[in-house]
Amino acid sequence: MDLENDWYFDEPGYDHLTFEYVDDYVDLIDDLDVPVTFFAVGRTIERFPDVIDTLTDRLECEFHLHSYQHDTSKSYEFRTEIRDGKEAFEAHFGHEPDGYRAPQGNIEPEEFRILEEEGFRFDSSVFPSYRPGVYNNVHAPLTPYRAPGTEELLEIPIGATPGTRIPISLSYLKLLGRPFATYLEYASLPPVVVCNTHLHDIYRTDSHDRIPRLKRAIYDRNMSRSEQLLRRLLERLRSDGYEFVTMNEIYARSRTERQTP
Ligand SMILES: [Zn+2]
Repeated sequence: MDLENDWYFDEPGYDHLTFEYVDDYVDLIDDLDVPVTFFAVGRTIERFPDVIDTLTDRLECEFHLHSYQHDTSKSYEFRTEIRDGKEAFEAHFGHEPDGYRAPQGNIEPEEFRILEEEGFRFDSSVFPSYRPGVYNNVHAPLTPYRAPGTEELLEIPIGATPGTRIPISLSYLKLLGRPFATYLEYASLPPVVVCNTHLHDIYRTDSHDRIPRLKRAIYDRNMSRSEQLLRRLLERLRSDGYEFVTMNEIYARSRTERQTP
């Protein structure tokens, strides 16, 4: 779960409106009976410490960093952005974040090295897929691997279907709807499946009416079926024998595997 500002920071009516559904979200996750890994935006942590505490207290979950300001235009110096994010994170949690996820999966090769220098153990930004103008990672591995240019930073990519390379995220499940859900029931999936979600994939707020029309059309698709689509995916994984764990657990197991000859 990327825990963020919905659409735009500092614009009344656009940011964090989904936070009014935090209790519903906790109930949903309770019912789905899965642990959650949150990638939280630094400024979100600063502004909503109570929400972070509610999630921490009521769910089996852990937190990592999702940038400081979620600036998708990337008009900042990367290291400064990371340090500001770490500072916000540490001020709340009392320890540094272990993992990082870039907004929109938009990460540059040299940024992996900076993340490692800044003390991160893993990154989970890469969509091994193609999104015009944002990323083209159709040849990236589907399972955890050492990030290029680093000593040991582990990249834990977001799940995608082998061959067709469609991200296993709630936004794609909603966009592509039942045909994709059915396809997922039969497709063979990688041994590690990171399922990406956002609160605004699940909960519709008034802010949805104010975003540009095309974006709104995309987000509104299957909005009423969102929980059902997520549930169906998790049931499929469960019946296939998948175990549900947090990112730290995936990291720990990948490390053990790499050290075993
Ligand atoms: Zn995000």
